[in-house]
Amino acid sequence: MAFSGLLRPAVLAASRSPRIERTITRMPVTKKVVDRFVAGETEDAAVSTTSALLRSGRLVTIDYLGEDTTDLDRAQGTVAHYLRLLSALSKGRAEDDQPVRPLEVSLKLSALGQSLPRNGYAIAREHAHQICTAARDAGIWVTIDAEDHTTTDSTLAIVRELRLDFPWLGTVLQAYLKRTEEDCRMFAGTGSRIRLCKGAYREPAKVAYQSRAAVDESYARCLRVLMEGKGYPMVATHDPALIDEALRYVHETGRSSGDFEFQMLHGIRDAEQRRLVAAGHALRVYVPYGDQWYGYFMRRLAERPANIAFFLRSFGRNR
Ligand SMILES: Cc1cc2nc3c(=O)[nH]c(=O)nc-3n(C[C@H](O)[C@H](O)[C@H](O)COP(=O)(O)OP(=O)(O)OC[C@H]3O[C@@H](n4cnc5c(N)ncnc54)[C@H](O)[C@@H]3O)c2cc1C
Repeated sequence: MAFSGLLRPAVLAASRSPRIERTITRMPVTKKVVDRFVAGETEDAAVSTTSALLRSGRLVTIDYLGEDTTDLDRAQGTVAHYLRLLSALSKGRAEDDQPVRPLEVSLKLSALGQSLPRNGYAIAREHAHQICTAARDAGIWVTIDAEDHTTTDSTLAIVRELRLDFPWLGTVLQAYLKRTEEDCRMFAGTGSRIRLCKGAYREPAKVAYQSRAAVDESYARCLRVLMEGKGYPMVATHDPALIDEALRYVHETGRSSGDFEFQMLHGIRDAEQRRLVAAGHALRVYVPYGDQWYGYFMRRLAERPANIAFFLRSFGRNR
């Protein structure tokens, strides 16, 4: 317990260090561990993983990896990449007017220019607007991911603006932030799609609950607000206790399987994903791909001491 309590902040700090990134990404052994969490580096790999998941009855959200972009060309490159992906995903699909879209893309505003020193807000909003327009034409949903707490106000403001044109646009709220219960109330109205997760970044005690128990209690309170609201809750967790809690709220509030969905990450608790689908629930898998996997990979390591141990053991096996 103390070990994991110390390790998590250290791994999360390393996730933002360019020096450690250079070291870790150059190690051949890293790739094998990364493959567990990331669908691959190419669009073809993402599309093929997506097809297999759809065939197994799961829904999918695809994330083109990248974050904290400080360069306009790179942000524009990310937009172009999403537009190509949406075009590839829409090919050969039958006209689809299902209320729950089987396909979604997830976006990080920091990859679209949010942190550029000049006009970052307007640039990210415009870039997200272009992607939402293409997604709407392709019959695909979009959800805007949550990043560290310094971006929350700006991200939610952009989401509010975009929802005027794209009322189906989803976003993410993080239960570890103390503000989130109130944000859930603001976003629990008709048509709103909120993915509730625990939160994956390193946050100070001023803004975020630090203990596992406090985060879990906050998650349960936030989930209740969303389930009692009029929107479409997206229950993003692998935690068995919270999955049970969600099913209890679903029962109490009389929601049916088209009124909410579970979400899990690619490569985590596959058997549980299949079990929930077999029980008649909607379950969406978050499929990340691309070569900018470092930050995402380190956050997955930080979540579980066993993942770090697995990573370290793989050195021994490959020496
Ligand atoms: C679909 C989806 C989208 C997300 N989007 C965001 C986002 O936009 N912003 C954000 O900050 N966070 C996001 N997250 C990450 C989230 O905040 C958590 O960090 C992550 O889901 C782990 O929390 P947990 O709820 O699964 O509970 P935990 O208590 O961390 O885990 C519960 C159990 O799940 C399994 N598990 C959890 N994580 C791992 C792992 N890495 N490897 C292996 N097993 C694991 C273990 O069995 C563990 O005991 C997202 C998560 C999901 C599922």
